[in-house]
Amino acid sequence: MIRLTKKQDCCGCAACVQACPKGCLTLREDEEGFPYPEADTTHCTHCGLCERVCPMLRRGGAPAPRHYFATMNPNKAVRHRSSSGGIFSLLAEEVLRQGGVVFGARFDANFEVVHDYTEEPAGLAAFRGAKYLQSRIGNNYRLAQEFLRRGRLVLFSGTPCQIAALKLYLRQDYDNLIAVEIVCHGVPSPMLWRKYLAGLVGTGNTRTVTQVNFRDKLHGWKGYHVSVSTDEGVLYREHKDRDPWIRALVLQLTLRPACTDCPAKIQHSSADITLGDCWGIDALAPELDDDAGCSVVICNRRLLPLLETLCPVRKPLDAAAVHAKNPSISRGLPLTRATLRRRQRLFRAARSNACVRLLLRRYTAPSLRERLLRAAVLLKHSLRSLLHTP
Ligand SMILES: Cc1cc2nc3c(=O)[nH]c(=O)nc-3n(C[C@H](O)[C@H](O)[C@H](O)COP(=O)(O)OP(=O)(O)OC[C@H]3O[C@@H](n4cnc5c(N)ncnc54)[C@H](O)[C@@H]3O)c2cc1C
Ligand code: SF4
Ligand code: SF4
Ligand code: SF4
Repeated sequence: MIRLTKKQDCCGCAACVQACPKGCLTLREDEEGFPYPEADTTHCTHCGLCERVCPMLRRGGAPAPRHYFATMNPNKAVRHRSSSGGIFSLLAEEVLRQGGVVFGARFDANFEVVHDYTEEPAGLAAFRGAKYLQSRIGNNYRLAQEFLRRGRLVLFSGTPCQIAALKLYLRQDYDNLIAVEIVCHGVPSPMLWRKYLAGLVGTGNTRTVTQVNFRDKLHGWKGYHVSVSTDEGVLYREHKDRDPWIRALVLQLTLRPACTDCPAKIQHSSADITLGDCWGIDALAPELDDDAGCSVVICNRRLLPLLETLCPVRKPLDAAAVHAKNPSISRGLPLTRATLRRRQRLFRAARSNACVRLLLRRYTAPSLRERLLRAAVLLKHSLRSLLHTP
């Protein structure tokens, strides 16, 4: 039976919960708001299945060599609504055209993230766009297995650890499965998000949230914004470099402990296709840069012909160069002692009902060095426009 001795040993993928034939395991949020399995041992037969499907205990070996390229969805409207180059939608539409099923992460009615599936093109809109918090996987590995056994084509998308968990849960390869992972920096706490969003909306009013967009491209892809809308209009829009939620994620203050030792980075990937942002596009593929979103796609030999058909415009890339520009693809995120202490203080304060919105603002306030750098950039821009004024 699964026994967790430290938080770093569980990524919350829920494979053990779904695999247990006796229903002994349930996921419960800990004091930081991340789900962990809890066991009722009354009916446990010690069959060991829960351990066999755990991606933290059974890390994948090195995958076969992969193809790296930069590309984008030819449909600019879809790309605009996607986080990167819109390749998830391109693949998903093709799978549905072939009578398949697509699994992905969507917001629920409270703007928390859950996994779900769709058999209809209209259902794809909810999966589009990155949601920067941990999704609840529910019983979707089991549902995917049922579709696969019936011979349906299945595209399953999720974080690398969710894809590793799915593969371990299935315990066999299926030709009718396309496993798509997103590059993953780490997942923030759903409890912090709940409190942060409540703080943004404010108490004592009747506004209801209608949309959250973590990758709002109104002002471009490279300088994306985070926006929240309500039935009264746009409530909040902030540049990623100033948005406290994104800053806290990048500073590693809000992430799940297991993300420091991710079991499923590209060296251990179980996916057929990995999708990320083509960060460093100026150096990697400047000819594809229209600032509306470009993907880096990493795929195995089996799926290459499909991607070549779907993505006529693409540029082959060198793996090492891609990894250097987008470290989240290949590296976990060890915490410094100072960050760990700040993280602990932040979660402690959040638990004691301090306003998470104000907390995140305080904990992510730019350092003096950052403020000076920003001022220098602003000054440079002002001088440049002055010099160019006739
Ligand atoms: C938590 C998180 C961290 C990320 N970190 C990085 C990073 O460091 N570097 C990088 O290059 N890219 C990162 N991405 C991936 C990137 O933002 C895009 O999601 C990816 O490139 C796919 O983009 P797209 O334009 O093809 O499709 P999109 O339409 O943007 O596709 C969204 C896809 O992501 C899935 N998804 C969305 N939210 C979640 C979630 N919470 N859990 C599981 N699956 C989810 C959906 O099911 C769908 O498959 C991250 C995404 C998430 C959710
Ligand atoms: S050992 Fe078997 S029965 Fe016991 S919790 Fe794990 S999967 Fe369930
Ligand atoms: S990592 Fe997944 S399978 Fe392993 S204990 Fe955690 S929830 Fe269960
Ligand atoms: S960083 Fe790794 S462990 Fe953390 S959510 Fe992403 S894939 Fe899972």
